[in-house]
Amino acid sequence: MFVHFRILFAEMSEPKKQCIEEDVAVTTFRRYLRINTSQPNPDYGTAVTFLQEVAREIGLGCDIVKLSSGLPVVVMSWMGSDPSLQAVMFNSHMDVVPVFPDHWTHPPFDAVKTDNGDIVARGSQDMKCCGIWYIEAIRRLKSEGKSFKRNIFLTFVPDEEVGGAKGMKLFVQMEYFKKLNVGFALDEGLANPSEEFSVFHGERTPWWAEVTCTGNTGHGSAFIKGTAMEKLHKIMTSALEFRKSEEKRLEADPSLTLGDVTTININQIQGGVQPNVIPSEMKMVMDIRISPHHDMVSFQELFDSWMTGAGEGCSYKFIFHGEHVSLTSTDESNLWWKAFSSTLRVMGEKFTTTIFPASTDSKYIRELGIPALGFSPMNHTPILLHDHNEFLNEKIFLRGLDIYYELIPALANCQ
Ligand code: ZN
Repeated sequence: MFVHFRILFAEMSEPKKQCIEEDVAVTTFRRYLRINTSQPNPDYGTAVTFLQEVAREIGLGCDIVKLSSGLPVVVMSWMGSDPSLQAVMFNSHMDVVPVFPDHWTHPPFDAVKTDNGDIVARGSQDMKCCGIWYIEAIRRLKSEGKSFKRNIFLTFVPDEEVGGAKGMKLFVQMEYFKKLNVGFALDEGLANPSEEFSVFHGERTPWWAEVTCTGNTGHGSAFIKGTAMEKLHKIMTSALEFRKSEEKRLEADPSLTLGDVTTININQIQGGVQPNVIPSEMKMVMDIRISPHHDMVSFQELFDSWMTGAGEGCSYKFIFHGEHVSLTSTDESNLWWKAFSSTLRVMGEKFTTTIFPASTDSKYIRELGIPALGFSPMNHTPILLHDHNEFLNEKIFLRGLDIYYELIPALANCQ
C-alpha cells in the first residue's frame, strides 16, 4: 500500500465543517472538475494551465501539442530506463458534455462533496477521474523513488465529446505521436452498479446514414404509384425488422450486452411541402452502431438490399462512416492484457470484459493496430455519464487510485 498524502482542506462555503482532512488526490480532482470544459465552448486554456502546473509539481515532463485544428493536447511524460521498449499511454479527454443546471442538486462545476462523500460534478465519471488517477498514482510512485522500464505518457485530449475529429483523430496522425512509440493504451470505460468493474476491449462502429427517396408526385387525394413515402416506408420497415431481431437476440441471451448486437435508430425524417401535395422527395437519418461481431461487408450488403428492395430512386450517403476496428485481444498471449488482468486478480477485484456500446477515442488508437482497453474503475456506482447529477464517491475514487498505483508499474514493466 502507498502512503496517503493529506492536506488540510478548508471548505470556505461550509464554515460549520471547519477544516476537513482530504486526500490531495481528491483535492486535485475537485480542482480539475471546477474548470468548465463543457462543450460547445470548453475552457481548454484554464485546463491546460492547471495540468501544466500539476505536472511541474510532480516533476513530469509536459508538452503542449497544438493540433492542426488549433486545439491543444497535453502530454505528460515519465521516461523509463529502457526507451527501446514500447511506451504505455494513459489517455483521458479534457472536455465534458453540456449541463442543464436546473436539473442538478448542486452546481455542476462546483465539485461539491456531500456528507456521504459523493463528489457531484460534470466530468466526475466522464472522465476527469481517470486523468487524475493517472497523475496522482504517479505522484505516489515517484515520491517513493520508483522507476520503470517503459516510457509512460499521460495524454489529455480535446474534442472527444463531439467525436474527436479535431482531437485524437488528428493527434494520432502526427509525427509527434509516432515518436512516442506507444505499444498499449488505457482509456475511458464506464461505471458499474455492481461490485464488478467493466473492462472494454472494443467498441461498436458508428454509421450515420442519410437516406433519400424520390418518387412520383401529385395531388394529395389520389392513388399515385411509386411515391417517395412508400419507398421510405419500405426501407424503414426493413431497418426496424432488423432492429427488432437484434433486440430479441439481446433479450434472449443473458451473456450478451448492448455492445454485442447492432442497433439502428431512425432519428430524423424530413420532407413534404404542404398537406395536399404528395412529396417528390423524403429523407431520413439513421444512427447505426455495428457490433464488432458483425461482418461489415455482409452488413453493407444487407443495407444496400434495403435500398434496392424499395425501388428506383433510393440512395444514401454517410454523414459518418466508421471503419471496422478489431477487438483488443484478451488472450493470455497478449502481454498487456496479461499484466492488466493479473494485477486486478491479485488485488481481488472482479471484472467483466465487454464491448463499449457507444464510441470513445480508443477507436483511433485501435485503428492503428495499438491494443487499447477502456477502464474507469468505478464499481458500486450508477452509470451517470452525460446525465444530470453525475457523481463519484470519494471512497470509490480512492480505491481507483489504489488500482492505478498497482496497474501503472505492472504495465510499465511488463515484457
Ligand atoms: Zn468520455
